[in-house]
Amino acid sequence: MKAFIQELKTRVLAGGDITPGEALRLSSITDSATLDLLLSAAHEITTRFRPSQPDLCSLVNAKSYLCSEDCGFCSQSSHYKTGVKRYPLMSPEEILGEAKKSEANGVQSFCVVTSGETLNDAEFEKVLAAFHLLSEKTRLRLDGSLGNLTPEQIRKLRAAGMRRFNHNLQCSREFYPKIVSTHTYDERKETLDFLKENGVEICSGGIFGMGETPEDRIRLAFELKPYDLHCLPINILNPRPGTPLAGQQALAPEEIIKMVAIFRFIHPQANIKLAGGRELNLGVYFQEKALRGGANGFVVGGYLTTTGNPLQEDLDMLKYAGYDTNTSKAVSATHFCCSAEKPATASL
Ligand code: SF4
Repeated sequence: MKAFIQELKTRVLAGGDITPGEALRLSSITDSATLDLLLSAAHEITTRFRPSQPDLCSLVNAKSYLCSEDCGFCSQSSHYKTGVKRYPLMSPEEILGEAKKSEANGVQSFCVVTSGETLNDAEFEKVLAAFHLLSEKTRLRLDGSLGNLTPEQIRKLRAAGMRRFNHNLQCSREFYPKIVSTHTYDERKETLDFLKENGVEICSGGIFGMGETPEDRIRLAFELKPYDLHCLPINILNPRPGTPLAGQQALAPEEIIKMVAIFRFIHPQANIKLAGGRELNLGVYFQEKALRGGANGFVVGGYLTTTGNPLQEDLDMLKYAGYDTNTSKAVSATHFCCSAEKPATASL
């Protein structure tokens, strides 16, 4: 296995790709010494292709709960009694108010996130007006996570200043029907196709620990491969009370960090960010290992319906793992939909 890891690393460093079969073979690693070799090889790939400044982003929610979809991991689905805070879409002025607060705190990127798979026409116009207002009144880089969009909507948002869009696939095509019945995998992929066609930077990832197999996780990584991802957030399920996955058994941390390393072999150029559920599932020790084994950033400051580490703790971890945190004020305030958990304040 040592020679195999070395061969794959050399190929990826030279600009080549690994195959699904090779990724699956890496996923069979069980002993800690070989896992350490894999992590070290993944880190070498990270340092070749990504700068030493970590890529960070944080989230805030512009519309919470009230979602008609039934994603089994999500506490914002109205199919489940989860007790999360619920509110309709904020006004453009309210969103501007949040953006101004973030800007005053040194944030440079701001992502508007809404719950729900698709905005209705009135909601879209409100969000569009918000992007115009943010472009006019702030110097923030503007991102969105707004569910499915049409090509025309994407073009309008781009013209209003949107730079990047988050749209997670969550898991493999094969596993998707086990967690969602109200929309299809192809509907989600269609928006990714539209984003790519229209030159929007793409942020897309998934959730580990929903009951999927290692092969499912690798399939997810290859489903994402054609999109030349700017960011790849990896959430780890934080089972939310009231959702169908509330009693889901946790993955072993070694399995999670091994998969993060394999994702690095498949996506050498992406910013691979540990996101929701990292604190619960990995603790400090394994988060630091992951940062030296394929991951190069965090989603910080809490998620859509759960809280996260204090920012300084995250910066300390990044610094310990060798990243340049002196210039990492590139934190972005976000409102995400369709990521793993959504922290109490909203993200993903
Ligand atoms: S992940 Fe998004 S679409 Fe799915 S239930 Fe949650 S808010 Fe709705």
